[in-house]
This record gives sequence, C-alpha cells and structure tokens, in this order.
Amino acid sequence: MAVIKVMDEFLANKIAAGEVVERPASVIKELTENSIDAKATEIKVDLQESGTKKIQVIDNGCGMEKDDAVLAFSRHATSKLYEEEDLYRIETLGFRGEALASIASVSKITLKTSKGDIGTQVVIEGGRIVSVENADARCGTSMIVENLFYNTPARLKHLKSLYTELASITDYFDKLALSHPDIRFVLTNNGTELLNTDGSGQLLKAIKSVFGMDITKKMREISGQTDDYTVFGYMSLPEVHRSNRNGMVTIVNGRVVRNAELNRIINDAYHTYKPDNRYPVVVLCITVDPSLIDVNIHPTKMDIKFSKMEDLVSLIENLIQDRLQHKNLIPQVEEVQEKKDLFKESIVKKHYEEIPLSFDVVEEKKPLFINDFEEKVESKKESFEKKEELEDLDNEEERMPLFYPVGQVLGTYIICQNELGMYLIDQHAAKERVNYEIYKEKLGNPKESSTAMLFPLTMEFSNQDYIILKENFSILLGMHFDIQEFGLNSILIKAHPSWLPKGYEEEAIRKILDLVIHLEKDFSIAKLNDRVAMTVSCKMSIKANESITLEEMQALIDDLRECKNPFHCPHGRPTTIFYAKHDLEKLFKRSGF
Ligand code: ZN
Ligand code: ZN
Repeated sequence: MAVIKVMDEFLANKIAAGEVVERPASVIKELTENSIDAKATEIKVDLQESGTKKIQVIDNGCGMEKDDAVLAFSRHATSKLYEEEDLYRIETLGFRGEALASIASVSKITLKTSKGDIGTQVVIEGGRIVSVENADARCGTSMIVENLFYNTPARLKHLKSLYTELASITDYFDKLALSHPDIRFVLTNNGTELLNTDGSGQLLKAIKSVFGMDITKKMREISGQTDDYTVFGYMSLPEVHRSNRNGMVTIVNGRVVRNAELNRIINDAYHTYKPDNRYPVVVLCITVDPSLIDVNIHPTKMDIKFSKMEDLVSLIENLIQDRLQHKNLIPQVEEVQEKKDLFKESIVKKHYEEIPLSFDVVEEKKPLFINDFEEKVESKKESFEKKEELEDLDNEEERMPLFYPVGQVLGTYIICQNELGMYLIDQHAAKERVNYEIYKEKLGNPKESSTAMLFPLTMEFSNQDYIILKENFSILLGMHFDIQEFGLNSILIKAHPSWLPKGYEEEAIRKILDLVIHLEKDFSIAKLNDRVAMTVSCKMSIKANESITLEEMQALIDDLRECKNPFHCPHGRPTTIFYAKHDLEKLFKRSGF
C-alpha cells in the first residue's frame, strides 16, 4: 500500500503557501528531512557549485514503492501527517507535501528508490515526468537535483555568491547534524568534504565535527530538569566566544528552533564572563511535552512559544551560571592553537577565492607556531579518541588556584607562579572586577548610607536631560542621593551614596547621572546598578602603566580570589591567563613532543 497519501485539501491550505524553495539550502532542507522521515541512519549530500549545478542526497532509509515515488511529486502529497493537530506537534519533521513538487518544477530531478526489492527510477524535468523505470535494489533513496532554477532566471539571479550559498548550506547542515547525532551525515562540495559526523549518537562528537576539536575541548556538559522540561547539552567555557550567534543552537524535541528569547537568556547568563557583544557556543537539547509548546511554522524557519517559559528560563540560567561558578576558568595559553574551524572554512574559501568573505568565521588567535596543518589535525583526532581526556578537564575542583606574585611587567601585568606554572594578571582588569563586585553589592543594598557633601554640588542640564532626570529622582533617592531641584534646569546635590570612591566623588556622580539620563528602553534598576558599578569600577581602578609593590599585588590577588567571578573584568575580558609549566618547556624546546 502506498505510504504517501494525498493531504486533506483543508489542511493543505492551512499551510503557509509561501515560496518553499528559495535557494539550494532550502532544497537540501526538504530532501534531508524526507530522508530523516524515511528513518535513514546515513545521509550523504554531494554538491556541485554550492548546489546550483547539482545536489545529490543519498540515504539508507526505507525507500519508496513505485506508486509513492511517482505520487511524491504531486502537490499536497505527504507521508508525514494526516491530521490537522499534527501541525502543532513538533515531533513530526517534514510536513509539506508541496515541497517536492515545487523543487521538481524548477529543476531536473532523478529519483532512485527501493524498499529492498526491485527499485524505481523517476526522471522529472520542469515538473513533468519524463520517465519511470525499474532500477537497482539498494534499499534507500537517492535524489539528484540538477540545474536548479534553470527555468526561472529571475530566481537564479537572486542567488547570492557561491560562497554565501555554501555558507548557508553548511550552517543548516551543522544544525541538522547537532540535532541528530544518531545519524551519520556527510557533506561534500565539488568533491571536498565539509562535514562528516559519525552517527554514534553522542552529542559531543557531533559538536566536535561541527565546531572542531579546540572548541569541543572547552565545552562542558550541563543537564537538569523541572517538572515539564528536560535540558541536556554543552556550553562553552567563557574564553570561547564568537562574533555571531551561530554557535547558540537550541534543539526542541529533536528539531532546531530559533527563539530570540532563548538566545538572549543563554547569552545573558554569561554576563561579565565575556564581552556582551560576543556570543558563546551552547548546544541545548530541550525535551518537553508537545502540548506545552506552540510552534509557528514557516517554510524557512521555525519559531516556538513555550508555556511555563519562566521555568525553562530559570532552569537554563541556573545550569549555565552554576557551571560558571564552580570551575577554574583561567584560560590556558597553549603552544599551538590550531583551529579546525579555520581548516573547514579555509576549504570553503579556497573554492571561491575570487569572492570576498561575507561572513565572520574564524574567531581564535593565530597559532604561536605554524606547523604542518594536516599533522596537527591528525593528532587532535587521536587525542579525541581518548575520551577520558575530555572528561578529566571537567574535574577542575579548585575555583581559583593559589599562586603568588613575583613581579610586574610593562607596569601592567602581574607575574605570578605556583608549582603548575606561570600566571599573568592584568592589574586593571583585576582591580576593576574587585571594585565592580563591591559597588554592585552596595548599590543593591537599601541599608547603605549617604555622605553629606562639604560643598553641595549644583549641576545644570539641557532642557530634555533635565526632564528625564526629574522623572527619575526616585531612582537617585533610592541610591541614597540627596538631590533636589535648584532653579532652571539645575539640580542641587547635598549628599551622595557613601560608597563613592574618595577623591572621585564628583566624577562618579556625573557618570551616574549620565547613565540615568541615557536610560535604555529595557530599563531596570538592576541593570542600571550593573552599569553604574561597571562604569565607576573602571574609572576607579588602577590603570595600566602604574607600578605597584609586591604587597599591593598580593592584596589585589587576595581580593580577586574573594570575587564571585575572579576570572573576568566586568566587561568580560580575562583578568588572568595561565601558562602551564609543560607548555613553557615546550616553547623553549626543553621537552619532547
Ligand atoms: Zn576598564
Ligand atoms: Zn574591563
């Protein structure tokens, strides 16, 4: 019996008609989703010229009967759902019967499929069936899509550069691989392999294939649950961050979703652990009863709404912050910082060198020594096989190891040591962190007192600034300012919060008023306090090029160790970096390799 059924017309109309096939990536999306529905455990995608010339998707799924193979190209045929309510159930993967028909109408398709006995080959050109023949019996389906958009020149013109199209394909494919670690995926373009996962079912291995070994070594497992949500995944240590959000992947019930809110929560959980304009690598698998989510299906993306969002938010926040608070997060400077990312992207780039790079890929520092690339990639592969190595990294017990200062260089960095190696501390960043935590604590504390000023301060503002300021007097009073109107567009300050740094009171007051005047749209007292603490702590911290005594260094390190996050200044820069003894030995060629 035919597995594919013609969809109820009503249901078909409910599906956003929309242009399903916009670019090669959307073709690949439809075809690979079909393969997944066919229960494939291996899916290979070969492209020529970023899929514009040719896309071949081969799977080892269950294949189709002859009838299905022919019917598959008719509009509104689908094997994937029959009931309207299924549309709202995210477990169902593909859902649009029209997709294959749409692809067929703008390309030449050769479909070969078999359920294990006599196979079928269907050739279809510009939407018309050219031939239906018997084919070999390899179980599974192979779909070749050639000359995409050959009969729609306008659409063809719409395609971006080959490089951009390929980038969009690899981005989709990466996410597919992450959401299906149990399926083996291979992606090639013009014969060059771009992704190859092992289908072992281990998310960490999929992460390694997608992000490379160096990032994977810095991923840490998180998992937890509430009554309704189960979250499992990996988060990067704060030293890993990227200029775009592509590293944040949320998978809900096995499918990648885009939810700006989730991304924001994940990113905010790293606040002050990394710069705010950089983004972590976090892959989260969320499992939830489908009745608790509302899926907004659009042909090209998938957004989602959660009921009991607050539960999910606090679960994710807690998991990430807990992890950040219980680890030694001092980045270690290694001899060679080889990037698999670089490797993969440089291959993509090499293919289309004439086309300028349009998206940001390579994040990390250059290697200290450039050695033979292939060799390095090999050795990384080997070390990955020893899985314990990855897990050992996870067992750092000490939050901030003990070390003591031995001197200062460039008037800026404190050199410290212990038996493990050498630590460099950025004295400004360290002092800034110490001050930040002090100020933040005081700002949030209603019991803090105010100090009367010997000479009350009057300040004049522009009309507009004055109005904003007046509207927010209550905030300033809450911060323990004694503040009042004082003639035209002027205010009088008679007392200020006691914690303001001595000798810098006026400067600090101006900074704070400035922050109040320039309140952001999503203003909250907590946020303002955070910004005030950040700004004031930067201003008031020892600068670079300032020498300090060994005692002062020791005092600073002691204070830093007391911090909730001793590893980063409030702007997310590292306070401390570490050179392991054995890495120093390697740098000086003292030890073997
Ligand atoms: Zn600063
Ligand atoms: Zn800073």
